[in-house]
Amino acid sequence: MSLKKFKFTKEFIADRCDYCGRCLAECPVLRFPPDKAVAEMHALVDGAPSEALDRCTGCMACNSICPRDADPHTLIVSRWSERNKREGLPYPAGLVLPHRKPNLYTLAMRSLSPQEQALVREWERNLNDPPPADTMIYAGCNMILQPFVMNSAIFRDIPIFGALHLCCGEPFYRMGCWDEAKAAAAHVQQEFRRMNLKRVIMPCLAGYHLFKHVYPAVFDTPLDVEVISIEDWLHDRIARGEIALAPLHMRAVIHDNCWPKASGDLLFDKVRALLDAIGVSVVEPPNTRERALCCGMCAGAARLQLRDIVRTAGERLRELEQTPADVIVNYCGGCDWLFNVVNVIYLSRYKKPRYHLLELVQQAAGEAPARLGVRRARQVIRTLTPRLIARYLRGGRFHLENP
Ligand code: SF4
Ligand code: SF4
Repeated sequence: MSLKKFKFTKEFIADRCDYCGRCLAECPVLRFPPDKAVAEMHALVDGAPSEALDRCTGCMACNSICPRDADPHTLIVSRWSERNKREGLPYPAGLVLPHRKPNLYTLAMRSLSPQEQALVREWERNLNDPPPADTMIYAGCNMILQPFVMNSAIFRDIPIFGALHLCCGEPFYRMGCWDEAKAAAAHVQQEFRRMNLKRVIMPCLAGYHLFKHVYPAVFDTPLDVEVISIEDWLHDRIARGEIALAPLHMRAVIHDNCWPKASGDLLFDKVRALLDAIGVSVVEPPNTRERALCCGMCAGAARLQLRDIVRTAGERLRELEQTPADVIVNYCGGCDWLFNVVNVIYLSRYKKPRYHLLELVQQAAGEAPARLGVRRARQVIRTLTPRLIARYLRGGRFHLENP
């Protein structure tokens, strides 16, 4: 049976919900018994205390599961949003918010090599003073954290642009800080109009789904550009014979990320077709495609605690490690980055080499990808740890509207 697409909505569509409880009973994280799932749905809708609110990892599987397209994921994120406005955020959470400085991204940029810093400066120049091209690649924060993933002859024909201030708003959206996400969308809309862009290629499927679906449907901020996933773009170029490839003869367990669940089978199939084209046979982990577990990044939104992120990432890494594959492949810069960071925290317990899909494509094209992920993770941990400790010691909470 083919997997259904789902839409992002401004709010949970309560009229459609018949309290069947399937979303929370079949949730790959909660797996509530049927009676408890129904009771929890009532609690969520009524705004009462709920275990689901504390344990949800925001993986969006419930939206694929819901037979009535009621958007239960948005119900949970809306409740987080209300809580955040009411109680504020714990002080350490400020480190992951793109508009508060210093933050994870500004601190991590200090770890970039001179060559990578030069790349990011070039991307900023292309944003500020766009070259005469109607198609460009958008480097969001996940690529700015690891520019080496995009440093390839494969992308030489298409200008890349991006800067930390051109945030797509995804961290805000996932955490339930929707006013800030909407402001980010308005900024992106304004910048794309200034750049006169016609097509934008997205190396990140979070940004892809935000631009294509969330901006128009949830934020009333449509973009006047065609949005193309890098998976689609690469697949077409390979099919046209524009990238010469030698098969890699690898066996990789795949980590699907949350966002492509919204596109049904489309992007899951595209990524697998791309891997097939470069000679990588795919091993599916027990939780895969629409039931894929969160990498851990969004698990922090539930209780705004770092330990939830580390534990969730560790559980996913363990699941991937236990498969008979030679390597792990993912196709989200955020998942890739977080897995590397968390495995350093776990003292390199998980041994399978991890690759971003783009690194494998580069390798099949005869290049030698820089593979700087683990080194970058160690540098970031060294930079971030003292600041995290200071924020935990300070304690307290802040409200987003108060800088
Ligand atoms: S978003 Fe994921 S973890 Fe949260 S309730 Fe839905 S399926 Fe479960
Ligand atoms: S949101 Fe959907 S799956 Fe969940 S209880 Fe309502 S109808 Fe059932």
